[in-house]
Amino acid sequence: MTRCVYLHSDGSQCISDALENADFCGEHAYETDVTALEEHPFRKLVLRLIALILLLLLLIPYYRFLQSVNMAPGIEAGESG
Ligand SMILES: [Zn+2]
Repeated sequence: MTRCVYLHSDGSQCISDALENADFCGEHAYETDVTALEEHPFRKLVLRLIALILLLLLLIPYYRFLQSVNMAPGIEAGESG
């Protein structure tokens, strides 16, 4: 029998034994039920927005680097003078 892994807000662990094939005791199994954290309707949208912003933050300097390389004079190979 393992102990319930539930942590109280003061940081102490629950003293009850966990249910069989579970990490929590009967009292805390319900409280920590994952389905209770059901999706917020905008959660996916917000995550995608953040992903898009991060992607842009990554790509903008890269784009500007490529742009500056293209605009730099006299770098093209085979063109001397
Ligand atoms: Zn517990």
